[in-house]
Amino acid sequence: MIKPGGTIGILGGGQLGRMMAIAAAQMGYRCIAYTPEKDHVVGDVCHDVFVNRWDDGQAMAAFAQKCDVVTWEFENVPAGALGPVEALLAPHPRALETAQDRLNEKRFIERLGGRAAPFAPVASRQDLLDALERIGTPGILKTRRDGYDGKGQWRIANSRDAEGLSLPDAPCVYEGMVQFEAEFSVILARTAGGNKAFWDSSANVHKDGMLHTSTLPAGDAVERHLHEARRLAGEVADALGYVGVLTLEFFATPQGPVFNEMAPRVHNSGHWTIEGAATSQFENHIRAICGLPLGDTRTISPGVVMTNIVGKDADDAARWLDDPATHLHLYGKAKAREGRKMGHATQLVWDR
Ligand code: AMP
Repeated sequence: MIKPGGTIGILGGGQLGRMMAIAAAQMGYRCIAYTPEKDHVVGDVCHDVFVNRWDDGQAMAAFAQKCDVVTWEFENVPAGALGPVEALLAPHPRALETAQDRLNEKRFIERLGGRAAPFAPVASRQDLLDALERIGTPGILKTRRDGYDGKGQWRIANSRDAEGLSLPDAPCVYEGMVQFEAEFSVILARTAGGNKAFWDSSANVHKDGMLHTSTLPAGDAVERHLHEARRLAGEVADALGYVGVLTLEFFATPQGPVFNEMAPRVHNSGHWTIEGAATSQFENHIRAICGLPLGDTRTISPGVVMTNIVGKDADDAARWLDDPATHLHLYGKAKAREGRKMGHATQLVWDR
């Protein structure tokens, strides 16, 4: 157990780390972060920030020296950079290895009995033609690594689109387009002893590949799949010996839940848990990695709507507070670039 007063290291300097550090501070922990980004957003809430390249072994070793446990808020930390912190990591780095590569991730899920959209690895134009022949259109070509929020993805409506596409210089996977009724995620926390707690699942709506809203209750199209989706998520967590918060994203289809992707971390579709659940995803992540018991994950209001605040929408973000049941989170990002997540608003819906 890491006693309150101990130091938690966070790999990554984004908003997920910022919200993790806020939850950790509440429980008496001190956080330090490690990030290659100069314009990180953890500085306001962390005791110290190492701004160094991922492959700077000396800096990573100095960081490790200061930590009692190390976790991540960003899952694309290069595996080769983790040597100096490996013994301190929670979750175990095998979760990163699995989730960093879309192809490995889908195969792993299928081995556990889950169902993904039809997919094929693509390393050349001939592979793409073969994939189109076998899977058909419409579909999406995605880079195997480093994609997020719809980046590193190309939609292919027909074979003419495929002819016009200049293939990215990276291994890819082609996926058939899933006709879904809704999208949802299963977010769970698991302790080292194997205790698991699940939050309610929200219905997630994406815009341009990026999460736009998460709404609870999610409705029947999602709820009838939760038993099966949670069973798979629980098996994934057990198979990985996972400690902390884990997210699996699904498409709800008439044939059952179809796995989309997993994130071995707290997730944007769980931000509503800060005010909307008895214990937030951030607090339970900290509890799990520090060896403390998990808190109650129940939703506390009849409804919740979380909306991401993106780009210039942050300029008049204070308008969200016109509704007293809404909580505003801004991440302290200096520049509201187009498509950049600047904050989110969580509305608790009491009258339904
Ligand atoms: P991803 O980054 O893979 O989660 O993709 C971002 C969003 O694009 C998803 O949340 C879906 O809205 C959409 N999308 C991705 N892959 C598929 C697919 N195979 N079928 C239908 N929609 C998809």
